[in-house]
Amino acid sequence: MDYNSLLENSKLALDLVGGGTDIATKLRELLKRGNKGGEMSPEVAELTLELQNQLINAQRAQLSILDSLIELKKEVMEADRQLELQRSYEPFATAGGAIVLALKPNEDGNQPVHYICPDCADDGKRRILQPQGTGKRCNPCEKFFPFDAPDDRPVRRPVRDDWIR
Ligand SMILES: [Zn+2]
Repeated sequence: MDYNSLLENSKLALDLVGGGTDIATKLRELLKRGNKGGEMSPEVAELTLELQNQLINAQRAQLSILDSLIELKKEVMEADRQLELQRSYEPFATAGGAIVLALKPNEDGNQPVHYICPDCADDGKRRILQPQGTGKRCNPCEKFFPFDAPDDRPVRRPVRDDWIR
């Protein structure tokens, strides 16, 4: 999210609306002087057109602000989800040398011990790793995390021993 462009768009909208107001004031003054011929003077016609264009531009700027705000809202929601994940999970080194995120102890007694994908968590997504062979896999991003100790270790312990606290 580009906060500067949000501010610039807000300012632009204000300037455009301000320009429209000035033109409307001039238009009112002209009309006050009277239009007895029944035909609109060229100045009035020109100012009316200018006013219309200004208002169209103002609308465009406002739409752009709306887009920026929607984008901002999405980012705030994503940041909230990331914070929530940071509160509930902590980095965990597997015997296979991978770093994943583990549910913090006593975080939620109803949840089984599990791990989530650190890469997806960076995007605010909580994706539980599923067992696959000697490790676990994040199905959505297809990344594999080795959990078992490498084969050259003297004793190869089962995965469960590695993560039970
Ligand atoms: Zn993932």
